[in-house]
Amino acid sequence: MKYDKIYIDGEWVTPSTSDVIEVENPATEEIFTTVAKANSEDVDKAVEAAARAFKSFNETSYEERQKYVEEILNGIKERQEDFEKVIRQELGSSYNYTKSAQVEQVIKEMTLALENADKVKFTEHHEGFDLVREGVGVVAAVTPWNFPLNQIQRKLTCLLLAGATVVLKPSTKTPVSAFLLAEVIDKTSLPKGVFNIVPGSGSEVGDALTGHEKVDMISFTGSTKVGRGIYEQAKSNIKNIHLELGGKSPNILLPKGDAKRAVKQSMDAIINNAGQACSALTRLIVPESRLEEVEGYVKQYVEENVRVGNPEDENNTIGPVISKEAQERVYDYIESGKKEATLLIGGGRVESEDKGYYVEPTVFTKVDNNSKIAQEEIFGPVLSIITYNDVDEAIEIANDTTYGLYGAVFGENDEEAYDVAKKLRTGSIVINGAARNPAAPFGGYKQSGIGKEIGWIGIEEYTETKVLFKE
Ligand code: NAD
Repeated sequence: MKYDKIYIDGEWVTPSTSDVIEVENPATEEIFTTVAKANSEDVDKAVEAAARAFKSFNETSYEERQKYVEEILNGIKERQEDFEKVIRQELGSSYNYTKSAQVEQVIKEMTLALENADKVKFTEHHEGFDLVREGVGVVAAVTPWNFPLNQIQRKLTCLLLAGATVVLKPSTKTPVSAFLLAEVIDKTSLPKGVFNIVPGSGSEVGDALTGHEKVDMISFTGSTKVGRGIYEQAKSNIKNIHLELGGKSPNILLPKGDAKRAVKQSMDAIINNAGQACSALTRLIVPESRLEEVEGYVKQYVEENVRVGNPEDENNTIGPVISKEAQERVYDYIESGKKEATLLIGGGRVESEDKGYYVEPTVFTKVDNNSKIAQEEIFGPVLSIITYNDVDEAIEIANDTTYGLYGAVFGENDEEAYDVAKKLRTGSIVINGAARNPAAPFGGYKQSGIGKEIGWIGIEEYTETKVLFKE
């Protein structure tokens, strides 16, 4: 499997540069394939194609666009195992998590977006005027590596249903799943030019794309640092913008909440995907009086559930982090944690694996919420346990962060947890371990982003609203 062409205007074309992207398997440190790279000339061609395609695509009926999305969904279903294999290889996410969260979740979200599609009102009749929603235009979609297929899907499904067209720049660390998706799309009847892909670095291809004069909207998922730069660029060009950024999410155990379940929720978050999730509940906020009990459950969880190793082995529950650089960054945080807090478990290198960027799952306790490990997004398998004395203090600690993406509250009953959840400045909150519904929108407060993705609310993000006055 090697991709030497890029997908522009409905065709596989030779890019303007012979440079390639080498894709490394973080579990083995092997370069397992190369893919073609685009440059700014290709960005230009892709944006021109998307702009040409927009006019007629925006005039298609909603039912027609649903049919295209359905074809893509069916194509993904047919190649489900190929996607899983590629994502394990390029990302290193564990076998079972790749299956459920990296691929099955994509299918669920797309299915529900289609089922709930009639909630978007493309034409609303009001006294004296109509409100008409239409596609926003050409979208520059820039995506990260941690959920390589789903971060693309969340943009693609919604913008296609809205009537917009797209030029996608996937992460250089995980481009293969994006090429696979382009293969799926190539087999559908989606009109040419509606979907285009320009793989390449952020500084070259990403920058050329987000700054392109014919791009009407930027939809970015990634770090707050890069998002801030893109926001500045969009501001000067007055482009529409959607940002899905980082997080440092709180998980509050209330005085009479279920400690075991609260621990599981946070531990799952640092084990799944090796803690590389924007929504990871990396601050577990617990009553001072229940600290010992909580620490006991953490140790029990580790004994029963944690097995570090290659994702090709189904029994392993946590794979490597994405790169050498990421591994070193996480180790730096662990060293800083050792100076700032008490190490409860982990904190070392994984001795059993001589190759691969593994990090031992690490939990710090008695962490001060002002410390570096409690304030900065580590993006690895590291959890901080923070104590409080009364519920107001717990809420204050939870909100004392520049981020606001996700959260969880465990209380004596749902009503109590719900009341506390309403006081949190964050985009989504899990009440007493409730399942995350794939139809629900997702997006952050504060420096975690602007706007919401997924489902009918996500579709509206990719529309412009036009007012037509009439008698
Ligand atoms: P990143 O910000 O380094 O890169 C994201 C994308 O932006 C990549 O495709 C990259 O090549 C591109 N990019 C970099 N510089 C650019 C520039 N100047 N112009 C245009 N594009 C540029 O993030 P990452 O390391 O790929 O992903 C991890 C981050 O993503 C974490 O902070 C995580 O919290 C965040 N994230 C957020 C969500 C969410 O829904 N809120 C979801 C997943 C990941």
